[in-house]
Amino acid sequence: MPTKNINFPISKSQFINFTKCSNSFYLHNQNLIEKTNTPHSGSLEWPEFINLCMSYFEHSVIIPRSLSKDSQKKETQEALENKHTIFGGYFESEEYASYIECLSPDITREGWILYDFRPVSTAKLDIIRSLYFQKRLLESLGVIISDVKLIRINSEYQMTDNLLDRDAFLITESLSEKLIKESGRFEEVWNLFLAYQTNHIFPSVDEVYPTCKSPKSCYQPDVCFQESQSYEIFDLREGHELPKKLYHMGIKTFEEIPDEELNQIQKIQKNAHVSQNTHFDSNQMSVFLEGTSETVCFLDFESINPTIPIFPNTRPFQHIPFLFSLHIWNPISDELRHFTYLHPPEEGDPREKVLKELTLLIPKNTTIFSFNDFFEKQIISDLIKIFPEHSEFWNAIHLNFKDLALPFKKFWIYSAKQKGKASLKEILPAFSETNHVGLSIREGQDANYQYLRLLKKQVTQEEKIRVLEDLVSYCKMDTFGLFVLYKMIKENLH
Ligand code: SF4
Repeated sequence: MPTKNINFPISKSQFINFTKCSNSFYLHNQNLIEKTNTPHSGSLEWPEFINLCMSYFEHSVIIPRSLSKDSQKKETQEALENKHTIFGGYFESEEYASYIECLSPDITREGWILYDFRPVSTAKLDIIRSLYFQKRLLESLGVIISDVKLIRINSEYQMTDNLLDRDAFLITESLSEKLIKESGRFEEVWNLFLAYQTNHIFPSVDEVYPTCKSPKSCYQPDVCFQESQSYEIFDLREGHELPKKLYHMGIKTFEEIPDEELNQIQKIQKNAHVSQNTHFDSNQMSVFLEGTSETVCFLDFESINPTIPIFPNTRPFQHIPFLFSLHIWNPISDELRHFTYLHPPEEGDPREKVLKELTLLIPKNTTIFSFNDFFEKQIISDLIKIFPEHSEFWNAIHLNFKDLALPFKKFWIYSAKQKGKASLKEILPAFSETNHVGLSIREGQDANYQYLRLLKKQVTQEEKIRVLEDLVSYCKMDTFGLFVLYKMIKENLH
């Protein structure tokens, strides 16, 4: 692909891309990547969050995004001259451009305070980098920046009644010191960025400019690593930079990888791929299943974790279960029973009802399998803190959990069909005819988003019925999948 000139002005998000991968920067800069907008729960909460942040400021001007860029620039300039707080101002130089969340006159000294509003609990490096970009842009346009601040969420905050206490929920943090502390590192990246603008190559694999450690999580790996989709080496577990190194050595398949390059887990993987036989460590699996009861349960929760608390006695980001699926299998009679509870969204806080239903359904002295059981245990123990009257139930069952993700994470079981992945969705079809294909909801994040839509009444009645059914089907498939895997394990042990 011939390398074209860089398009100016460069946006803030393009700069952030560059700090991670110069090739990704180029792809975005040349509009070679289709922008996708996956709906997520954060987008449902954003208007409320931004309104809370904006409520701190008086005499403000909002620059409408519906205007043309030229008009946005003009209105921003006018607000700047009138010393108003500006929300969504658009600033552009010949080289760079950015929307600024908030710029507010500093009443204590000369200059402006540059704000960012983010529904997060810590100021991660990307946030500081993006503020660094904006500060540079504003200063190049003659705007004096006296301080750089972030309005973010206090994750320790607990909503005690139905009213959100804005000042306890939000934290305003000055990032000026962090910017100074990181300035050396940022200047280095900036100089690299400047050099790239005049002397770029695409794709760049020579490590002068930042590139990915592994193309596995990239949206466009084939551009930098030709035909990478058909190269087995990119499925290598715990590979980090190794697949990239192997690619440059001309190695495409597991068979070609020298054993000395591989750790224990990768050797298991190589053998399974070369022989096309499933790896099954009977010794480890026997130890893993020691103490398992005859009848067993399979449990899965779906939860929301709203940024802005919805129910009393909850914190930001806290997981609130609204649905569970429970399969109970008696191997003697081969009877598999299914139970589920989905809390009606119009009834508000689901926690007490979810816990009560669980106490009625989960038998004591029975092993409970979950996939990544830390989550299920955390959900129940959080519920018990609020409803201690059910402590006896928790005390009776909390040692009964077993994590069915563990054998796959540890590579006690591995099939080449997993292609190095260890999520339930990838494992299930590798060992059975069962899979998540055909389900409308296929990810926990989507289940979270859909239930939040119901709570915020952003669905029609017709849609509501469909979403509720989809949620139950999705959760049921997860516990049925665990049952299928458990049966497969038992059969292999005999
Ligand atoms: S494959 Fe890697 S180097 Fe290429 S664009 Fe993706 S992240 Fe960047």
